[in-house]
Amino acid sequence: MNEYDSTRILDLTKKINYVPTTNLSEANCYILNTCHIREKATDKVYHDIGRIKKNFRNKIKPIILVAGCVAQAEGEILLKKEKYIDAVIGPQSYHKINEMILNLEKKSKSENFTEFDVIEKFDTLNSLKNSDSNISSFLTVQEGCDKFCKFCVVPYTRGPEFSRTIKELTKEANQLAENGAKEIILLGQNVNAYNNKKKRLSDLIFEISKIKNLKRIRYSTSHPLDFSEDLIEAHKNFKKLMPVIHLPVQSGSNKILDAMNRKHTINEYLELIEKLKNAKPNIKFSSDFIIGYPGETDEDYQQTVKLMKNIEFIHSYSFIFSARPGTPAFGLKKVDQKISKERLINFQSIAERIKTNYRKTLINKIIPVLFENKIKNENKYFGRDEYFNSVVVQSDNNLSGKIINVRILKSNQNTLYGKFISKLNYENFAA
Ligand code: SF4
Repeated sequence: MNEYDSTRILDLTKKINYVPTTNLSEANCYILNTCHIREKATDKVYHDIGRIKKNFRNKIKPIILVAGCVAQAEGEILLKKEKYIDAVIGPQSYHKINEMILNLEKKSKSENFTEFDVIEKFDTLNSLKNSDSNISSFLTVQEGCDKFCKFCVVPYTRGPEFSRTIKELTKEANQLAENGAKEIILLGQNVNAYNNKKKRLSDLIFEISKIKNLKRIRYSTSHPLDFSEDLIEAHKNFKKLMPVIHLPVQSGSNKILDAMNRKHTINEYLELIEKLKNAKPNIKFSSDFIIGYPGETDEDYQQTVKLMKNIEFIHSYSFIFSARPGTPAFGLKKVDQKISKERLINFQSIAERIKTNYRKTLINKIIPVLFENKIKNENKYFGRDEYFNSVVVQSDNNLSGKIINVRILKSNQNTLYGKFISKLNYENFAA
């Protein structure tokens, strides 16, 4: 979502004649768009500012803005701790960024814009044409979260759930397609909680799938509790909807799920997976895992391993529990770090084995790949298959924006390598 926000900030600041530069030591203004999910992100802000300071030693200081969830959660602390920062701006105040920059051009007073003005924000952004021209583009459809998982900062940094209207989203999706997007990834902290005037995510997917030049639709990130029947049906009915779902589970233990306030059990999660498989037999899943959540015993951990082996997630993101200030889990007694680390290493090796075995099944298969860009200084193109696997092929022709059948020849940990077979006729795949 920060990537999407950054493109919108760029669209906004163009209005006051700011343009992006790759010459970092000559920028007049730095906007650090931050994430607060894990501790390291905050450290990175201080680290980056240290680097900027070095670049600008003996030069006129640029305007330094810290945007995003670190600004929202720790704005005052940042301003006090690092005087080089001129202002902080939270995710729901981006529509005020130009006002903030123009003020800072005139005076040197630090500023803090961290109110939750989400309606005003999207009203401002809706009036701007989206200039994002990536083949695969993000589109924020929903922000915020009302779930209050005990470890998570999102309800405090992004605020309550808010869904944009189908009308404005369809308009922006059309703009993205006109700019060359062939794939749109619908974003929300709780994307399947999307609800605007009783219109749900499946209604939005239906509308967007009518855009002729748009070939693929994905959405992220979902909560198991919000998987309504209509969304399950959408996977059966809409061919443009890709057959992989990111469905965070966090733990395989009911005790830990309850302690996290995830509001569902493992049986309910497994039932949901079954329903989705019945609707779309070739569907696959990816997930997030927190290892070493306070109170996690070895037995709880083994249940997480069992779940991983049972579902065989094709992509998984696992981290040791990181206590975030301001969340209910912050003060809880931590699992011994050595034990957490051992469990994480073991878990990741199991996840890797599952992924490797899955990738082996793709060797010699012919799969459709949407190519996104040429790899710098090489005659190779990068793309993704329907399951979000990275694929690289060699080609002297420009493949960007094309969906092409590729025979997979080999695979390493992160990438599949293949060779060009034919162009896929997508006319057969209308939603
Ligand atoms: S559902 Fe997701 S975004 Fe919401 S509180 Fe839980 S982890 Fe955070």
